Amino acid sequence: AIRPLIAGNWKMNGLRAQAAEFDAMLDGAAEATGKADLLVCPPATLIAAFADKARGKKVAVGAQDCHPKASGAHTGDIAAELLVDAGASAIIVGHSERRADHCEDDALIRQKAEAAWRAGATAIVCIGETQAQRDAGQTLEILRGQLAGSLPESSTAANLVVAYEPVWAIGTGLTPTTQDVEQIHGFIREFLTSRFKADGARMRILYGGSVKPSNAAELMAVKNVNGALVGGASLKAADFLAIAKGC
Ligand code: 13P
Repeated sequence: AIRPLIAGNWKMNGLRAQAAEFDAMLDGAAEATGKADLLVCPPATLIAAFADKARGKKVAVGAQDCHPKASGAHTGDIAAELLVDAGASAIIVGHSERRADHCEDDALIRQKAEAAWRAGATAIVCIGETQAQRDAGQTLEILRGQLAGSLPESSTAANLVVAYEPVWAIGTGLTPTTQDVEQIHGFIREFLTSRFKADGARMRILYGGSVKPSNAAELMAVKNVNGALVGGASLKAADFLAIAKGC
């Protein structure tokens, strides 16, 4: 069986005062990690502080994005090497908010995933269809294109996590039915095993989009759902830990 991963994406939230929530996650982690691994991706400003606190504890710290290059004249950008140096062990790439806000395309996201590996981090590659694409019946075609374009050739079960996040489910309180999740995660699994063989069969496929304590157990029980990428509910230790316990 694939051990689930519950990953929190704090997005552009997290003043230093909110570090107390992270402390509470560290305190409750031992109990919650019976069933799942835990990862918190705070804003870059908090990675080093969180990683220092998390040393020897059961919560890993990650980042939300990286630049494809290792260093250089790129004002305001952050290389994967700098994130790993600060304590990140995983990097989310290709989140729909980055695809939309920063016009990121599949080719760039693939380079970012490779940058994460170059620095020694796991890449969490996000894919997902918009409401308009779903309404047009294009969901599987869009996902196939994103998978084909965003996943580097040398992806393995150890260095890559796929996160399926339907854009229309992010921050809306809406979630697909468990039947829809099963169909789509099954489709992603087929793609991964056909392209990456045995590794593809073992890669984690996370579901993301309005995951809460009240719906987590049901979603996590769906075949080929190997954890969650949690936004809003990952800002509160009680909610985040409850989601992990629901695995
Ligand atoms: P919400 O859990 O707030 O819907 O966000 C999901 C997400 O985008 C995680 O990356």
